[in-house]
Amino acid sequence: MRIYDVSVGISPELPVWPGDPQIVLERVSKIEEGANANVSRLVCSVHIGTHIDAPIHFLEDGTGIDSLPLNVLIGRAYVIDLSTADVLDAKTLESAGIPPRTRRLLFKTRNSKYWAAGETDFKENFVGVDASGARWLARKKVQLVGVDYLSVAPFKQSRDTHRTLLQAGIVIVEGLNLHEVSQGRYMLYALPIKLMGSDGAPTRAILTGV
Ligand SMILES: [Zn+2]
Repeated sequence: MRIYDVSVGISPELPVWPGDPQIVLERVSKIEEGANANVSRLVCSVHIGTHIDAPIHFLEDGTGIDSLPLNVLIGRAYVIDLSTADVLDAKTLESAGIPPRTRRLLFKTRNSKYWAAGETDFKENFVGVDASGARWLARKKVQLVGVDYLSVAPFKQSRDTHRTLLQAGIVIVEGLNLHEVSQGRYMLYALPIKLMGSDGAPTRAILTGV
């Protein structure tokens, strides 16, 4: 069975959301300096690299990342290749040929090329789901949506898209690297680390054949 790692590697070079803290991943105890073991510390936002947003990220009375249902985070998913799209709006989604009753939908866009190229600066021009696209996803009863850049919504359009999706109970996976994956059906395993009450969490995301 082929296994695809669709997570991005976390390191201090990884681009972060503008205004968020830079990632610190450093060894604070070193065998070469006489310590018993190598030990590192990690300092970062919870919205780095491949990660999942919790309802409380955009909803005042929303729940934290530890409350997300595991049976949504694991299961059949469809990768749709929209590499030529500039925005994921309702019109684009309606004509994309997404199989009916798709419950977990991952968007492969030109964003994945940024990860593949190892780009270290934040790209404002990334492709995201606009408000009409979010309403479309809610109407189609999608349970999980995955995107291949640091926000599900286009730059400076965060609020409406996030609120619409989270109010509909849709799990938002961000920062996937789908460069090596082609359009089709897979099994998704996307498990956020269990940060109690957190508005998000870094996530290891894996696709396998169905
Ligand atoms: Zn996020």
